[in-house]
Amino acid sequence: MCKRCKTKPVIKLSSGENLCKGCFLNYFEKKVRKTIRVHKLIGKKENLLVAVSGGKDSISVLEVLLGIYKGNKNIKVSALLIDEGIKGYREYCIKKTEEYCKKNKVKLNIVSFNKEFGFTLDKIVKGRRPCSVCGVLRRSLLNTKARELGATKLVTGHNLDDEAQTIIMNQFRRNMDASSRLGPLTGNENNNDFVRRIKPLYFMPEKETMTYAFLKNLTHDFNECPYNIDSYRNQIREMLNKFEELYPGTKYSIVSSFMEILPLLKKKEKVAKIKKCKICFEPSSSEICQKCKILNEIKSSKH
Ligand code: SF4
Ligand code: ZN
Repeated sequence: MCKRCKTKPVIKLSSGENLCKGCFLNYFEKKVRKTIRVHKLIGKKENLLVAVSGGKDSISVLEVLLGIYKGNKNIKVSALLIDEGIKGYREYCIKKTEEYCKKNKVKLNIVSFNKEFGFTLDKIVKGRRPCSVCGVLRRSLLNTKARELGATKLVTGHNLDDEAQTIIMNQFRRNMDASSRLGPLTGNENNNDFVRRIKPLYFMPEKETMTYAFLKNLTHDFNECPYNIDSYRNQIREMLNKFEELYPGTKYSIVSSFMEILPLLKKKEKVAKIKKCKICFEPSSSEICQKCKILNEIKSSKH
């Protein structure tokens, strides 16, 4: 029975508490509000741009934000979708996102690899590691477009599971520099070249986000990108899921203890001098940015 209103439960939280549909939706939205408030993710006046993929996380974060800031003229919410050109996968996500945004009157901006770079991911993927290429190009596009669109914050749908996996991966690979760039709010308020990123679902486990998306009828599409073959992350995910089952609350402990040391990591972070890329003039820690290095390599190999 739901502990709060004594009706049929739909979920058992990692705390052991059972909740019915209504109580769960309230609990979910309240917890996201708390993350936003405690970690000062959103100010009084913002132009929020939600990076949407059509998947459950990004649509859920968009849905919660629309609910929280409904009628607030100082907080604008719009969406940005990157079409990498992944046949049989991305088309469906685009269709779903378009339908959602139309229904909820959200301005949706779509940017494609094909238009921006002259190729689709499918076309250049052979012989390369898809996620490495895709990740760098996506990140770069998200930042450039967010800046062009005048966004004050770029919102992503990363959840507790994503973050716990990344923390452990960085730890196992001794990559503390990468960890120092994690957290619910990243970027520097004094650097206008980078649009700051926020993760309102930071403390929401994947299971809860999935339940939220399902109960709100946001998406039935839980399929994955065909290139999602990052076996290292998948192994870490499986390991954490096993631990979570045996010891509920493990993922939360990883993330919350990480939050305690994050300020120290940020202080220690190598302060690489940010230069401008010689080719595209975007901020970069080296003479030529990662994106331009990848684009040059692709150009010289003629795909
Ligand atoms: Fe890109 Fe990899 Fe994500 Fe697919 S799984 S969208 S290739 S980063
Ligand atoms: Zn560049």
